[in-house]
Amino acid sequence: MQTELIRIDREHIPFSVMERAGALLQAGGLVAFPTETVYGLGADALNEEAARKIYAAKGRPSDNPLIVHIAERKALERIAEKVPKEAEALAEAFWPGPLTMILSKKECVPQGTTGGLSTVAVRMPADEIARELIRQGGGYIAAPSANISGRPSPTTAQHVYEDMNGRIPLILDGGPVRIGLESTIVDLTEGRPVILRPGYITLSMIREVAKEAEMDRGLTADDSNIRPKAPGMKYRHYAPKAELCIVEGPMERVISYINKNSAGSKTGIICTEETKGCYVNGDVKCIGSRKDEVSIASHLFAILREFDADGVERIYSESFDTPGLGQAIMNRLLKAAGHQRVDAADAEL
Ligand code: AMP
Ligand code: MG
Repeated sequence: MQTELIRIDREHIPFSVMERAGALLQAGGLVAFPTETVYGLGADALNEEAARKIYAAKGRPSDNPLIVHIAERKALERIAEKVPKEAEALAEAFWPGPLTMILSKKECVPQGTTGGLSTVAVRMPADEIARELIRQGGGYIAAPSANISGRPSPTTAQHVYEDMNGRIPLILDGGPVRIGLESTIVDLTEGRPVILRPGYITLSMIREVAKEAEMDRGLTADDSNIRPKAPGMKYRHYAPKAELCIVEGPMERVISYINKNSAGSKTGIICTEETKGCYVNGDVKCIGSRKDEVSIASHLFAILREFDADGVERIYSESFDTPGLGQAIMNRLLKAAGHQRVDAADAEL
C-alpha cells in the first residue's frame, strides 16, 4: 500500500483534503492525524471492521481498548449510557483538551473498539485538524497513538511515517504536537473519579473540579500484584532499542554517576539545558529546560527515537520529578526503561 503524506496549513485547513480524509474514514479506512497530545491512528469507532484494522496496523494486543474521539460535547450522548455529574463538570472544565473519560457504553459501540469491555473511553481533542477530521469522518473516531505497538508514541508526522509507511493510505501532517504525552485518563464508572493514566491534566487540576478524585493504586503501588486498571498500562511501552536506565538523586551525584558509567561505550545521555555542559562522554541530548516542563514532555518520545537512529547501546537519563507534569513524564520514562532505575546517592562513585 502506498502511504500519502499531506502537509496541512493550520491557518488555512483545506476543506477538500479534510473531506477526502473523512470519506476514507467513513469507508472503513485508516488515517493518521495530529492531536495536541500525540499523533493518532484513526478509524470509524462504530465500525468494528475498521477498528480491527487499527490493531492489525499497529500490532496492538486485541484486549487493549481504543479511545473514541469526538468533536462536540453533544456527541457523547450517543455512545455513553450514563454521564455522571462529575463527567459533565470535567468536560466543562477540560474539553476540548487532553482528558479522556471512561464511561459505561451504549450498544452501538462495538466490542472490537472497547477490547471487549462494557465501558468506553471518550475524548474531545483541542487540535483543530483533529476536530475537523472527526466531523468529516462521521463524528466518532477511534484513535490510539499512531506508532507500532511498543515503540515511542509519534510526536511528528515523520515518526508516523517511519512506523506506518506501507501500512496505511494517508497521514495528515500538522507539524510537531504541542504536548507530546498522551491524554490523562479518568475512570468515571465507579463513583469517585480515578486517574488511570497521568497526563497533562494533573490530579490537582482534576480535584479543583472533582474533590474526591484519586490516582489508581495500580499506578503508584510498589506491590506488582496490584495491576493498573487501564488494560494498556500493563504492556511494555515506548521502549527504545537500547537499554535505558534512569538515574535519580542529587544532581551532582547524578552527573558524576553518568560520567563514570558512560566512558568508552556507545552511550546516550538525556539531560536538560541546566546540565548539558556537565557531561564529558557519550551522545548527549538535551530534552528541554527544568523551568519549562512542557519542553521536557514534548521532546521525550522524539529523543528516544533519535537514540534508535544513532544506534547507542545504552541510555542514561536524568529523572524529571517536576511539580506538575513530573508524574506523567516519569510514568512514560519508567515504562520506556522497563523500570530500571538507580539512586546515585547510594552508588559508589
Ligand atoms: P492509546 O490510545 O495508545 O493512548 O491507549 C489508550 C489507553 O486507554 C490504553 O491504556 C487503554 O487501556 C486505555 N483505555 C481505553 N479504553 C478503556 C476502557 N474502557 N477502560 C479502561 N481503560 C481504557
Ligand atoms: Mg499508545
